[in-house]
Amino acid sequence: AKDAGRNGYAFFAPSMNSDMQAQLGLLGDLRHAVERDQLVLHYQPKFVASADDTPRLAGAEALLRWQHPEQGLLAPATFIALAERSGLIVGIGEWVIDRACAQLHAWQRAGRTDLTMAVNLSPAQFAAPSLPHHVAAALARHAIAPGTLTLEITESMAMRNVEASLAMLDALVALGVRISIDDFGTGYSSLLYLKRLPATELKIDRGFVRDLRRAGEDAAIVTSILALARALELDVVAEGVETREQRQQLVDLGCTYLQGYLLGRPMPADAFADSAGIATKA
Ligand code: C2E
Ligand code: CA
Ligand code: CA
Ligand code: CA
Repeated sequence: AKDAGRNGYAFFAPSMNSDMQAQLGLLGDLRHAVERDQLVLHYQPKFVASADDTPRLAGAEALLRWQHPEQGLLAPATFIALAERSGLIVGIGEWVIDRACAQLHAWQRAGRTDLTMAVNLSPAQFAAPSLPHHVAAALARHAIAPGTLTLEITESMAMRNVEASLAMLDALVALGVRISIDDFGTGYSSLLYLKRLPATELKIDRGFVRDLRRAGEDAAIVTSILALARALELDVVAEGVETREQRQQLVDLGCTYLQGYLLGRPMPADAFADSAGIATKA
């Protein structure tokens, strides 16, 4: 292809270099992001499924953002993979768990003891033997009832190394936290394996919700995920709910919880408290 030269990359070297330099620069910045206090959590509300326009708030999912000094507020898509490859994600993930627990404690102290918090785990974090220790420490530090914290792992993460995943999940469940299987439907977990997972919840991937149409193929997928969840006594969260039609259909199909722009976008803690009527100032 092209004039690639003998070593195969000569032709593209200049552009690859600048791209690599950009990534290296970003990596350098990311190394300091935690200590310079540039990472922030936004919170997206999760509601008990209902076609009602004032549904009951069940809790929040913490979603990471990076307030970059030059590039502005960065979404995880721009830096999570880099954090994962460099190993920085383990420290960042620890920070996320700590901050999410601190925030949950603040809401609970303000009287909202009914709210739960969900935190996303990355593959490297999930593979680190120190994870249960860090989770236990954060729960204790912020006086969080373990059952109010949910850890979200993706279906593909759970599938990567089945025996190791089951051992890690058992250690986490022993702490009393809940496990949610994120992006469900995008992997290939067998029913047998799913049955062995000590999860309490499945999150239907946004892709299926986006293309929901009455009697469409994705409606059939969502219907079968819900049947599976019912058989295994798991809650089902639909994410990415953007239209009233999707909401109605997901309620009719029997989803337990709804998340999406129709109901609430991810937002900074102050805005979340405002929209939920939580008085966080002591
Ligand atoms: P996810 O866990 O599947 O999170 C849902 C993503 O969908 C979020 O994107 C959220 O803002 C977005 N979303 C929610 N409702 C809607 C909707 O109605 N329409 C559309 N179009 N999008 C919606 P975000 O915040 O950019 O996060 C992307 C991914 O980054 C997350 O996907 C998760 O895999 C990862 N991530 C986020 N925070 C963390 C974190 O603290 N640690 C780790 N390891 N990964 C994280
Ligand atoms: Ca998630
Ligand atoms: Ca998801
Ligand atoms: Ca996703």
